[in-house]
Amino acid sequence: MSKLVIVPTPIGNLGDISARAIDALARCDIILCEDTRVCSKLLNHLKMNKKMLPYRDDNEEKQVQKIIDLIGKGSTVCLTSDAGTPAISDPGYRIVNACRRRKIPVEPLPGACALITALAASGLPSDGFLFLGFLPSKTSARTNMFKKYADFDHTLIFYESCHRILKFLKDLQDIMGATRVICVAREMTKLHEIFHVGEIGQVYEEIMGMSTKGEYVIVVAPQRFKFSP
Ligand code: SAM
Repeated sequence: MSKLVIVPTPIGNLGDISARAIDALARCDIILCEDTRVCSKLLNHLKMNKKMLPYRDDNEEKQVQKIIDLIGKGSTVCLTSDAGTPAISDPGYRIVNACRRRKIPVEPLPGACALITALAASGLPSDGFLFLGFLPSKTSARTNMFKKYADFDHTLIFYESCHRILKFLKDLQDIMGATRVICVAREMTKLHEIFHVGEIGQVYEEIMGMSTKGEYVIVVAPQRFKFSP
C-alpha cells in the first residue's frame, strides 16, 4: 500500500541507521531528501541506487502537491533529512500534515535525534523538558527568549551552530547566572564527541579554550537543580 515513511538517518555515525530504516529505503519508490549529495553518501554506504526528490525548507510548500500526487498514484515515499529525525528542526511537517489531512498512511520509524541523545546523556532532569530548537541569531531576540524561559521548571534544550555557541553561552550566563547547570553536547556519535557538564561559568571557560568546530546541543537544567562533582 502506498504511504509516507518517516526515516531517521544517523547524526554522525553511519552505523546508527536501523535495520527497519534500511528496509524502508530499499523498498520505497522515492526518497525525499534535503541534499541529494548527503543522501547519496548514505545510499552508497548501503549499496543502494534510488530515485531522490529534493525536499527542503525553500521548496517544501511547492513540493507537497507533487509528492501527494505520487503517493496517490501508488508510490511509497520515504521522508529523510540530512541528519537525524525529519521534521525536527528540519523540513517535514508540511508533507506529514498534508498526508494526515488526506488520510494517507504515515509510518514513523524511530531513530537518531540529537536532542534526545543529548538529553539522555546529559545527566540532567529528563522527566519533563522543553525543546526550543535554534534561537534567533540576534542577541536581543535570543536574550528575550532566555528571559522568557529562565524560571521554567523543567529542562530546556536548544540547537546551536559552532559560529554562535560562545555568544549563546555568554548570553545564557548573563540571563540565567553563572551557576546554572548545563550540558553542552558536541559532535555526538562522532570521533570528537565531547560532553561538557557543569555550571555555565565553568563550561564556558572550558569551551573558550578550545576550537569551537562541530555541532552542538545545549541542555539547561531548571534553576532548582544543583550539580556537585
Ligand atoms: N533533525 C535533526 C535531529 O533529529 O536532531 C536536527 C537537524 S538540525 C538542522 C541540526 C542541528 O542538530 C545541529 O546544528 C546541532 O545543533 C544538532 N546536531 C545534529 N547532529 C549533532 C551531533 N552529532 N552532535 C551534536 N549536535 C548535533
